[in-house]
Amino acid sequence: MILFDEIIFGPIMSRRLGISLGINLLPENGKFCNFNCIYCECGLSFNTSANTLRLPSADQVKIALSEKLKAMSDAEQKLDSITFAGNGEPSIHPEFTTIINDTIEARNKFYPEALVSVLSNATMLDKEDILQALLKTDRSILKLDSAIENTFQKINRPRQGLTIKHIIDNLKKFKGNFYLQTMFLKGFVEEEMIDNTTEKEITAWLEILQIVRPKNVQIYSIHRTPPYASLEIIPMAKLQKIAEKVKNIGIEVQAV
Ligand code: SF4
Repeated sequence: MILFDEIIFGPIMSRRLGISLGINLLPENGKFCNFNCIYCECGLSFNTSANTLRLPSADQVKIALSEKLKAMSDAEQKLDSITFAGNGEPSIHPEFTTIINDTIEARNKFYPEALVSVLSNATMLDKEDILQALLKTDRSILKLDSAIENTFQKINRPRQGLTIKHIIDNLKKFKGNFYLQTMFLKGFVEEEMIDNTTEKEITAWLEILQIVRPKNVQIYSIHRTPPYASLEIIPMAKLQKIAEKVKNIGIEVQAV
């Protein structure tokens, strides 16, 4: 299980983002997410709320980020991306919009060439301020692991009431100005087979890609031990076949 115990982590070399400095807006002492994905690298969610978890304030994030960027810049270190990731869904943070504005300001000052990236599950985009904040960033990387309601519920295990229609409606609001990422996997979870690589799954997923038209699609499989050890890695050859189908509908894609 990977829990980030600091506000700023890295930089790390990321397969998808290059040299990436991470910002963890979420608690140091637990995961805070409105999903509970079966593959989550932070482990499974427990019964936590903002009251029991310590979230960093916008001021704390601003200071920590500026100090780190200044130190990196003084040491002439390279940086490709300042990336919001960490122990849960960053856009849940109550000061998310302020933090995005502060981050863009700090990026402009220290690393004007670096991209501000946000990994998000797209659940909060019906809030206009969150949508606008994400649209200000260079790279919103939004999750869509299945276009089929039943599979979405089984893989992402969202907070009660969130449906795949809700997610797809939110993706449409970007008018194509986003990156989409999909985790492919299969295996038994609590005695039920889950597989988002079947013909039926891929067909439904491609149909939604054609509607929401992301700039780029990143597909991948498990790289670290998931909470359910029964989940299988999808081989790169199969990911490449799925990637071919994405290319065939005219969308840029990488299997990583
Ligand atoms: S959305 Fe991300 S942080 Fe939340 S449960 Fe899924 S993988 Fe974990």
